[in-house]
Amino acid sequence: MERLSDIGTIKEILSKHGFSFSKGLGQNFLINPSVCPRMAEMSGAGEKVGVIEIGPGIGVLTNELCKLAEKVVAIEIDKRLIPVLSETLSDYDNVKVINEDVLKIDLNKLIEEEFNGMKVVVCANLPYYITSPIIMKLLEENLPIEAITVMVQKETAQRMCAEVGTRQSGAVTVAVNYYSKPEILFNVSAGSFMPAPKVDSAVIKLNVFDKPAVQVQDSKMFFKVVKSAFGQRRKTLPNSLSSGLGISKLEINNLLSECGISLTARAEQLKLEDFKNIADKIQG
Ligand code: SAM
Repeated sequence: MERLSDIGTIKEILSKHGFSFSKGLGQNFLINPSVCPRMAEMSGAGEKVGVIEIGPGIGVLTNELCKLAEKVVAIEIDKRLIPVLSETLSDYDNVKVINEDVLKIDLNKLIEEEFNGMKVVVCANLPYYITSPIIMKLLEENLPIEAITVMVQKETAQRMCAEVGTRQSGAVTVAVNYYSKPEILFNVSAGSFMPAPKVDSAVIKLNVFDKPAVQVQDSKMFFKVVKSAFGQRRKTLPNSLSSGLGISKLEINNLLSECGISLTARAEQLKLEDFKNIADKIQG
Protein backbone atom coordinates (compact mmCIF):
# COMPACT_ATOMS: atom_id res chain seq x y z
CA MET A 1 0.00 0.00 0.00
CA GLU A 2 1.35 3.43 -0.95
CA ARG A 3 2.09 5.93 1.84
CA LEU A 4 1.46 3.32 4.53
CA SER A 5 4.05 4.83 6.84
CA ASP A 6 2.25 8.17 6.71
CA ILE A 7 0.74 8.84 10.15
CA GLY A 8 -2.57 9.97 8.61
CA THR A 9 -2.89 6.71 6.63
CA ILE A 10 -1.99 4.62 9.68
CA LYS A 11 -4.58 6.34 11.88
CA GLU A 12 -7.22 5.93 9.17
CA ILE A 13 -6.55 2.18 8.84
CA LEU A 14 -6.52 1.62 12.58
CA SER A 15 -9.78 3.48 13.11
CA LYS A 16 -11.45 1.76 10.13
CA HIS A 17 -10.65 -1.62 11.75
CA GLY A 18 -11.53 -0.40 15.26
CA PHE A 19 -8.01 -1.37 16.38
CA SER A 20 -6.74 -0.54 19.88
CA PHE A 21 -3.11 -1.10 20.87
CA SER A 22 -2.21 -3.96 23.20
CA LYS A 23 0.55 -2.91 25.59
CA GLY A 24 0.95 -6.54 26.65
CA LEU A 25 1.91 -7.52 23.09
CA GLY A 26 4.52 -4.75 22.82
CA GLN A 27 2.59 -2.92 20.12
CA ASN A 28 4.49 0.26 19.29
CA PHE A 29 4.06 0.83 15.57
CA LEU A 30 6.59 2.71 13.46
CA ILE A 31 5.36 6.05 12.13
CA ASN A 32 8.69 7.50 10.98
CA PRO A 33 8.69 6.95 7.19
CA SER A 34 12.47 6.92 6.87
CA VAL A 35 13.10 3.94 9.20
CA CYS A 36 11.51 0.97 7.37
CA PRO A 37 13.12 1.49 3.94
CA ARG A 38 16.51 1.81 5.66
CA MET A 39 15.99 -1.31 7.75
CA ALA A 40 14.77 -3.35 4.79
CA GLU A 41 17.70 -2.19 2.64
CA MET A 42 20.29 -3.02 5.30
CA SER A 43 18.76 -6.41 6.19
CA GLY A 44 20.07 -8.08 3.03
CA ALA A 45 16.57 -8.53 1.54
CA GLY A 46 16.90 -8.77 -2.22
CA GLU A 47 16.46 -10.99 -5.25
CA LYS A 48 16.46 -14.68 -4.36
CA VAL A 49 16.37 -13.82 -0.65
CA GLY A 50 13.59 -14.95 1.65
CA VAL A 51 12.73 -12.84 4.69
CA ILE A 52 11.12 -13.82 7.98
CA GLU A 53 9.47 -10.89 9.72
CA ILE A 54 8.31 -11.18 13.33
CA GLY A 55 5.37 -9.00 14.39
CA PRO A 56 4.41 -7.15 11.19
CA GLY A 57 1.81 -5.00 13.00
CA ILE A 58 -0.07 -3.22 10.21
CA GLY A 59 2.69 -4.00 7.71
CA VAL A 60 4.82 -0.84 7.39
CA LEU A 61 8.11 -2.77 7.35
CA THR A 62 6.52 -5.72 5.53
CA ASN A 63 5.67 -3.42 2.59
CA GLU A 64 9.31 -2.38 2.23
CA LEU A 65 10.54 -5.96 2.53
CA CYS A 66 8.08 -7.14 -0.14
CA LYS A 67 9.48 -4.56 -2.56
CA LEU A 68 12.99 -6.02 -2.21
CA ALA A 69 12.74 -9.71 -1.32
CA GLU A 70 11.81 -12.80 -3.30
CA LYS A 71 9.38 -13.83 -0.56
CA VAL A 72 8.37 -12.57 2.89
CA VAL A 73 6.83 -14.68 5.63
CA ALA A 74 5.46 -12.54 8.46
CA ILE A 75 4.51 -14.09 11.82
CA GLU A 76 1.95 -12.09 13.79
CA ILE A 77 0.37 -13.27 17.06
CA ASP A 78 -2.52 -10.78 17.14
CA LYS A 79 -5.39 -12.13 15.06
CA ARG A 80 -7.03 -8.67 14.96
CA LEU A 81 -4.19 -7.59 12.66
CA ILE A 82 -4.74 -10.32 10.06
CA PRO A 83 -7.58 -8.54 8.18
CA VAL A 84 -5.61 -5.27 8.42
CA LEU A 85 -2.58 -6.96 6.83
CA SER A 86 -4.70 -8.47 4.02
CA GLU A 87 -5.64 -4.92 3.11
CA THR A 88 -2.26 -3.21 3.53
CA LEU A 89 -0.30 -5.97 1.73
CA SER A 90 -2.80 -6.50 -1.10
CA ASP A 91 -0.36 -5.07 -3.70
CA TYR A 92 2.04 -8.00 -3.18
CA ASP A 93 1.84 -11.66 -4.09
CA ASN A 94 5.19 -12.59 -2.53
CA VAL A 95 4.03 -12.43 1.09
CA LYS A 96 2.47 -14.90 3.50
CA VAL A 97 1.15 -13.93 6.92
CA ILE A 98 1.06 -16.59 9.62
CA ASN A 99 -1.09 -16.00 12.72
CA GLU A 100 1.15 -17.65 15.36
CA ASP A 101 3.33 -17.01 18.38
CA VAL A 102 6.91 -16.84 17.11
CA LEU A 103 8.17 -18.49 20.28
CA LYS A 104 6.04 -21.58 19.58
CA ILE A 105 6.59 -21.97 15.85
CA ASP A 106 9.00 -24.52 14.32
CA LEU A 107 11.22 -22.17 12.32
CA ASN A 108 13.40 -24.86 10.76
CA LYS A 109 10.25 -26.43 9.29
CA LEU A 110 8.94 -23.04 8.17
CA ILE A 111 12.20 -22.23 6.36
CA GLU A 112 12.25 -25.61 4.65
CA GLU A 113 8.62 -25.37 3.55
CA GLU A 114 8.49 -21.69 2.53
CA PHE A 115 11.87 -20.71 1.16
CA ASN A 116 12.90 -23.60 -1.08
CA GLY A 117 16.69 -23.24 -0.82
CA MET A 118 16.71 -19.42 -0.87
CA LYS A 119 19.15 -17.46 1.26
CA VAL A 120 17.14 -16.41 4.35
CA VAL A 121 17.36 -13.35 6.61
CA VAL A 122 15.26 -12.09 9.52
CA CYS A 123 14.10 -8.48 9.71
CA ALA A 124 11.76 -7.17 12.42
CA ASN A 125 10.75 -4.44 14.79
CA LEU A 126 10.60 -6.75 17.80
CA PRO A 127 8.03 -6.74 20.60
CA TYR A 128 10.29 -5.58 23.45
CA TYR A 129 8.77 -7.75 26.18
CA ILE A 130 10.31 -10.85 24.53
CA THR A 131 13.38 -9.45 22.72
CA SER A 132 15.91 -11.81 24.32
CA PRO A 133 13.84 -15.01 24.06
CA ILE A 134 13.21 -14.31 20.36
CA ILE A 135 16.86 -13.55 19.58
CA MET A 136 18.04 -16.57 21.55
CA LYS A 137 15.53 -18.80 19.74
CA LEU A 138 16.76 -17.52 16.37
CA LEU A 139 20.39 -18.14 17.35
CA GLU A 140 20.10 -21.39 19.29
CA GLU A 141 17.92 -23.36 16.89
CA ASN A 142 20.70 -23.67 14.36
CA LEU A 143 18.60 -22.12 11.61
CA PRO A 144 19.98 -21.66 8.10
CA ILE A 145 19.76 -17.85 8.33
CA GLU A 146 22.46 -15.40 7.29
CA ALA A 147 21.55 -12.33 9.33
CA ILE A 148 19.09 -10.96 11.87
CA THR A 149 18.29 -7.25 11.56
CA VAL A 150 16.09 -6.11 14.41
CA MET A 151 14.88 -3.03 16.23
CA VAL A 152 15.43 -3.36 20.00
CA GLN A 153 15.65 -1.02 22.98
CA LYS A 154 18.81 1.09 22.80
CA GLU A 155 20.19 -0.34 26.05
CA THR A 156 19.63 -3.89 24.85
CA ALA A 157 21.36 -3.00 21.58
CA GLN A 158 24.38 -1.66 23.46
CA ARG A 159 24.53 -4.72 25.70
CA MET A 160 24.17 -7.18 22.81
CA CYS A 161 26.73 -5.42 20.64
CA ALA A 162 29.30 -4.76 23.39
CA GLU A 163 32.68 -6.40 23.09
CA VAL A 164 33.04 -9.55 25.18
CA GLY A 165 35.51 -8.87 27.98
CA THR A 166 34.50 -5.23 28.54
CA ARG A 167 32.45 -3.61 31.32
CA GLN A 168 29.29 -3.37 29.18
CA SER A 169 29.24 -7.09 28.47
CA GLY A 170 26.84 -9.56 30.08
CA ALA A 171 25.65 -13.12 29.52
CA VAL A 172 23.62 -12.01 26.50
CA THR A 173 26.74 -10.36 24.95
CA VAL A 174 28.60 -13.66 25.20
CA ALA A 175 25.66 -15.57 23.70
CA VAL A 176 25.22 -13.16 20.79
CA ASN A 177 28.98 -13.09 20.05
CA TYR A 178 29.20 -16.89 20.24
CA TYR A 179 26.73 -17.23 17.35
CA SER A 180 27.24 -14.03 15.36
CA LYS A 181 29.08 -10.81 14.66
CA PRO A 182 26.79 -8.06 16.00
CA GLU A 183 26.73 -4.41 14.93
CA ILE A 184 24.57 -1.37 15.74
CA LEU A 185 23.22 0.05 12.46
CA PHE A 186 21.43 3.22 13.63
CA ASN A 187 19.48 4.74 16.51
CA VAL A 188 15.75 5.48 16.41
CA SER A 189 14.08 7.99 18.72
CA ALA A 190 11.06 7.10 20.87
CA GLY A 191 9.00 9.64 18.88
CA SER A 192 9.26 7.43 15.79
CA PHE A 193 6.61 5.11 17.26
CA MET A 194 2.93 5.21 18.06
CA PRO A 195 2.35 5.03 20.96
CA ALA A 196 5.82 6.36 21.88
CA PRO A 197 7.70 4.00 24.24
CA LYS A 198 9.59 5.41 27.25
CA VAL A 199 12.99 4.56 25.79
CA ASP A 200 14.90 5.12 22.57
CA SER A 201 15.60 2.23 20.22
CA ALA A 202 18.32 1.03 17.88
CA VAL A 203 18.49 -1.26 14.88
CA ILE A 204 21.10 -3.97 15.21
CA LYS A 205 22.33 -6.57 12.75
CA LEU A 206 23.62 -9.97 13.83
CA ASN A 207 25.68 -11.53 11.06
CA VAL A 208 25.22 -15.21 11.86
CA PHE A 209 28.30 -17.49 11.71
CA ASP A 210 28.22 -20.85 9.92
CA LYS A 211 29.70 -22.30 13.09
CA PRO A 212 30.10 -20.74 16.57
CA ALA A 213 33.01 -18.40 17.28
CA VAL A 214 34.63 -20.98 19.59
CA GLN A 215 34.37 -24.75 19.33
CA VAL A 216 33.25 -26.12 22.68
CA GLN A 217 32.84 -29.74 23.81
CA ASP A 218 29.29 -29.14 24.99
CA SER A 219 27.39 -25.90 24.33
CA LYS A 220 24.99 -26.57 27.25
CA MET A 221 27.93 -26.58 29.68
CA PHE A 222 29.41 -23.49 27.98
CA PHE A 223 26.18 -21.54 28.57
CA LYS A 224 25.83 -22.91 32.10
CA VAL A 225 29.28 -21.51 32.86
CA VAL A 226 28.40 -18.15 31.24
CA LYS A 227 25.12 -17.91 33.15
CA SER A 228 26.76 -18.84 36.47
CA ALA A 229 29.65 -16.45 35.97
CA PHE A 230 27.32 -13.49 35.39
CA GLY A 231 24.66 -14.82 37.75
CA GLN A 232 25.68 -12.98 40.86
CA ARG A 233 27.50 -9.86 39.80
CA ARG A 234 28.50 -8.83 43.32
CA LYS A 235 30.15 -12.17 44.09
CA THR A 236 33.69 -12.93 43.01
CA LEU A 237 34.09 -15.18 39.98
CA PRO A 238 35.08 -18.28 42.04
CA ASN A 239 32.06 -17.80 44.33
CA SER A 240 29.51 -17.32 41.58
CA LEU A 241 30.88 -20.25 39.55
CA SER A 242 30.97 -22.46 42.62
CA SER A 243 27.36 -21.75 43.60
CA GLY A 244 26.03 -21.67 40.02
CA LEU A 245 27.67 -24.92 38.98
CA GLY A 246 27.50 -26.77 42.33
CA ILE A 247 31.27 -27.38 42.35
CA SER A 248 33.46 -26.80 45.43
CA LYS A 249 35.33 -23.52 45.60
CA LEU A 250 38.65 -25.37 45.88
CA GLU A 251 37.98 -27.21 42.62
CA ILE A 252 36.89 -23.98 40.91
CA ASN A 253 40.04 -22.21 42.09
CA ASN A 254 42.22 -25.01 40.69
CA LEU A 255 40.29 -25.01 37.46
CA LEU A 256 40.61 -21.24 37.00
CA SER A 257 44.34 -21.40 37.72
CA GLU A 258 44.76 -24.19 35.15
CA CYS A 259 42.99 -21.94 32.62
CA GLY A 260 45.30 -19.04 33.49
CA ILE A 261 42.43 -16.93 34.85
CA SER A 262 43.01 -14.74 37.90
CA LEU A 263 40.91 -15.67 40.95
CA THR A 264 40.00 -12.00 41.32
CA ALA A 265 38.81 -11.61 37.72
CA ARG A 266 35.20 -10.58 37.05
CA ALA A 267 32.88 -12.29 34.58
CA GLU A 268 32.85 -9.21 32.35
CA GLN A 269 36.63 -9.42 31.97
CA LEU A 270 36.56 -12.93 30.50
CA LYS A 271 36.84 -13.60 26.75
CA LEU A 272 34.92 -16.25 24.81
CA GLU A 273 38.03 -18.47 24.95
CA ASP A 274 38.08 -18.23 28.76
CA PHE A 275 34.46 -19.39 29.05
CA LYS A 276 35.23 -22.19 26.58
CA ASN A 277 38.32 -23.29 28.54
CA ILE A 278 36.41 -23.39 31.84
CA ALA A 279 33.51 -25.36 30.30
CA ASP A 280 35.81 -27.83 28.53
CA LYS A 281 37.88 -28.37 31.71
CA ILE A 282 34.69 -29.17 33.68
CA GLN A 283 33.70 -31.70 30.98
CA GLY A 284 37.11 -33.33 31.56
N1 SAM B 1 6.34 -4.19 12.59
C1 SAM B 1 5.37 -3.27 13.13
C2 SAM B 1 5.94 -1.86 13.08
O1 SAM B 1 7.16 -1.74 12.98
O2 SAM B 1 5.17 -0.90 13.13
C3 SAM B 1 4.93 -3.62 14.56
C4 SAM B 1 6.04 -3.80 15.57
S1 SAM B 1 5.48 -3.94 17.22
C5 SAM B 1 6.88 -3.31 18.09
C6 SAM B 1 5.60 -5.65 17.62
C7 SAM B 1 4.61 -6.59 16.91
O3 SAM B 1 4.86 -7.92 17.35
C8 SAM B 1 3.13 -6.33 17.18
O4 SAM B 1 2.44 -6.34 15.96
C9 SAM B 1 2.71 -7.51 18.07
O5 SAM B 1 1.34 -7.83 17.94
C10 SAM B 1 3.62 -8.60 17.57
N2 SAM B 1 3.89 -9.68 18.55
C11 SAM B 1 3.96 -9.59 19.90
N3 SAM B 1 4.25 -10.79 20.44
C12 SAM B 1 4.40 -11.66 19.41
C13 SAM B 1 4.70 -13.06 19.34
N4 SAM B 1 4.94 -13.78 20.44
N5 SAM B 1 4.76 -13.65 18.12
C14 SAM B 1 4.54 -12.92 16.98
N6 SAM B 1 4.23 -11.60 16.99
C15 SAM B 1 4.17 -10.96 18.19
